Amino acid sequence: MNIVNKPITIEQEICVKCGMCCDGTLFNNAVLLKGEKKSLPPLIAKRYIKSKTGEAFKLPCPYFDKKCTIYDQEKPDVCSSFRCELLKNLSKEKTTKANAAQIVENAMDLRSEIFTMYEKAYKIMEPISFRDILFDLRVRTEKNELENIKDPQLDLLMFKSHILEILLVKYFKPSDEYQKLVMK
Ligand code: SF4
Ligand code: SF4
Repeated sequence: MNIVNKPITIEQEICVKCGMCCDGTLFNNAVLLKGEKKSLPPLIAKRYIKSKTGEAFKLPCPYFDKKCTIYDQEKPDVCSSFRCELLKNLSKEKTTKANAAQIVENAMDLRSEIFTMYEKAYKIMEPISFRDILFDLRVRTEKNELENIKDPQLDLLMFKSHILEILLVKYFKPSDEYQKLVMK
């Protein structure tokens, strides 16, 4: 989300090859500030949601098409303020640009593998995000457990999705989420 017009920074070079905070890989929703509802771009307004925890819009963002297609227009605050852990570590020089680019590439390669396996296994061809796939796999797993059905393909997909989720939590999500994951 952290892409603005110019100048192009190292962080933006990483973001432009990623987009996982916009396309439903990292999060289900993007948070909105109070009062932002009135000025949302139209397609985001259609995905507006309100819950006990606040206001948000459902991801994947309809303006994401390999990159943000409205980066020079008025957007929710989160679009320019959000910085994942990878970017924070890059700015603190805890990681290098090459390392960060490799982490993004590894995550995206694994995600592509999961998408391909999922489409092949369940013949679902319409665009679906990683988070939607993860939800669907969990539902299918619970159902199979209840009905005592064996599905090795589903087990493998779950395994690969868990690896990707660990990678996302470790490198991209707020660090306390990784702590929670490893302390469980
Ligand atoms: S997840 Fe991080 S690296 Fe990827 S686009 Fe978002 S802010 Fe940039
Ligand atoms: S408008 Fe959509 S695609 Fe653009 S930065 Fe915001 S969430 Fe990402």
